[in-house]
Amino acid sequence: MDQIQLRGLGLSLLVLVAVGFSISLYLHCGYLFNGPWRIAFFIYGVLTIAAFIIGIGRRLWIWTSGQTRNDIQTTTVAEALSRLFMIVAAQRRVIRNSWPGLFHAAMFWSGAILFTVYLLPSVGVTLATIPYPLLSALFLGISIGSLFLAGRLVLFSWPNRKLSFAHTLGRVVAPVLIAAVGIGHFFVMRSTVLSTGVLFLQYMCAMTVFALIPYSRLLHIITVPLWTLVRPDKRFTMSLPFDLSRETEIEISNNDLPLGPRRREEFSMRALLAFDACTQCGRCEEICPAHGTGDGFSPAKIMRQLQLANAPSAPSANLVAIAESEQVDCCTTCGRCEIACPVALEPLSAIHELRRTTAFEGRFESGHESALRRISEFGSIWDKTKSPAIYLQPPVPWLMEADGPPAELVYWVGCAGRHDPAGQRIAATIAGLLNRAGIRWTTAGAEELCTGDTARRMGDEGLFQKLALRNIALLRQARCKKLLVSCAHCFNTFANEYPAFGGDFEVVHHSELLLQLLQNGRLGHLAVLPTKITFHDPCYLGRYNGKYEPVRNLLDTIEGVERLEMHESREQSRCCGAGGARLWRDGEPGARMAAKRATQVSEAGADLLVTGCPFCLTMLEDPIARMGGRVQDISEFVASAVRT
Ligand code: SF4
Ligand code: SF4
Repeated sequence: MDQIQLRGLGLSLLVLVAVGFSISLYLHCGYLFNGPWRIAFFIYGVLTIAAFIIGIGRRLWIWTSGQTRNDIQTTTVAEALSRLFMIVAAQRRVIRNSWPGLFHAAMFWSGAILFTVYLLPSVGVTLATIPYPLLSALFLGISIGSLFLAGRLVLFSWPNRKLSFAHTLGRVVAPVLIAAVGIGHFFVMRSTVLSTGVLFLQYMCAMTVFALIPYSRLLHIITVPLWTLVRPDKRFTMSLPFDLSRETEIEISNNDLPLGPRRREEFSMRALLAFDACTQCGRCEEICPAHGTGDGFSPAKIMRQLQLANAPSAPSANLVAIAESEQVDCCTTCGRCEIACPVALEPLSAIHELRRTTAFEGRFESGHESALRRISEFGSIWDKTKSPAIYLQPPVPWLMEADGPPAELVYWVGCAGRHDPAGQRIAATIAGLLNRAGIRWTTAGAEELCTGDTARRMGDEGLFQKLALRNIALLRQARCKKLLVSCAHCFNTFANEYPAFGGDFEVVHHSELLLQLLQNGRLGHLAVLPTKITFHDPCYLGRYNGKYEPVRNLLDTIEGVERLEMHESREQSRCCGAGGARLWRDGEPGARMAAKRATQVSEAGADLLVTGCPFCLTMLEDPIARMGGRVQDISEFVASAVRT
């Protein structure tokens, strides 16, 4: 649907809502109040309905002012309805957060039932028809839930998250009014003389809450259900501001839209809605590994800035300034914030867009600038002058005879495998295991270039797409569709990002292949290795692609291994600090994050940490060594079992 159709649909729905609510209000006036009370309540009610409709109408105008061009992220009806049920009706993600989540759910479920009944007087159902104990339980639910959330905000969030007084006060008003509605119920029931006045006040509070929805944090009552319906089905997908496989660079530069959004209207419609769905609960900030590393970075703060820029009365915000002041380069793109968000928002997606904004302005910090130069000039993120490439000797040459049998698989060695000493060691180990298993494999050797993952994460979409198109064309030469990778970032790029440019390959991570080879007995007899081992889930393998089990299953097949789990593992795995191009920032970019992870390894009681990504290995080697432990890639551990 285009902008005009969406606005037409939205306005029609608002008219229907206004009519429905007005009928309900009229009927309530009839059975609740008499004389002047009735007139006063009706007038106040009409004003609140008008305030609600105008407020939502203005928001609707903002949300539909965004872009839909090149939106390759898909949403299916079945998934959308399932999300609506799980996230909104069942409050599944909210409840995950133990006590605060349960209080929110109590308030939500009680409020939803009361509100539904409130809308039904025309069919003869009113609050008076609900049995008194149940009615009291519902009002108790909204009272306790809202008081708890207001108290938590004042006593915990305000001091700990350093919220401003005005911000805190603004957020406390709505829960206090909701609590007043709930508590009012018990006064109405007890009071005999003043019951009409108390009832009037209770309903005034309820209607005020309703009017406040578009102007307060309560807006999420509207935006979250809408967001769950339009959110992309697949997590961690990136928008496509242009497509080099369809447009030339000249056509792209002639477009009026920039690479990254500089003004609110240059975000997608979905993104504009998402900013208003953020409840500022701070859960993304609590679990963000980059938060608290001294840069003042916080995904919740970024969402807040974008939410403020989204307000109907906000002046045209300078998104370049927001991107720079909020230091979007600090993000490791680990994706933990998106897993933690109780309403399934995508702070990471906003960060990617803002990185494109700074990239479009040509503003990179010096570490990122030199990394991009290396990728662009040498096709490798690693400094190849420090570690010259060592090329593997595959059993099948890269360009075999046209009528010869193609290789079983292509091993994509990756920048680390070509130019980083630790990565070279891993690549050589994997090559040895492939040869031992008798696999007919090949590799592109000097033809191989960086996949472009790091360039894309830095915001340089153009460089990423050029590399993607070039690598896809190269791989087609090999007439082999099965691709082996030993880097979590390469895995994600091939599996999830190249298909948008026609690169459909069967991608296998080396842990999956080694597991298969072990299970099929193709690596021969394994030695017993008595070791206490824990596995660090790389973000781009685990959270991004759900590959949690292959390495664990692999370890479980080796006799003597005692596999231990860290406090934060699988979906909750803590980032090593390297991803999202953070490794290439100047200074000690991820050292504190890596040190924290190393502490968790030691707390788990492991002697050896295994991982499945050269970035993680690079980050964790030193801090683990300082604690007396060791780190190996999973292939090295398997090789040690095979060789002995
Ligand atoms: S992706 Fe990771 S580092 Fe980036 S904001 Fe989210 S939690 Fe923080
Ligand atoms: S993005 Fe999600 S987790 Fe973060 S503050 Fe907003 S609602 Fe909370």
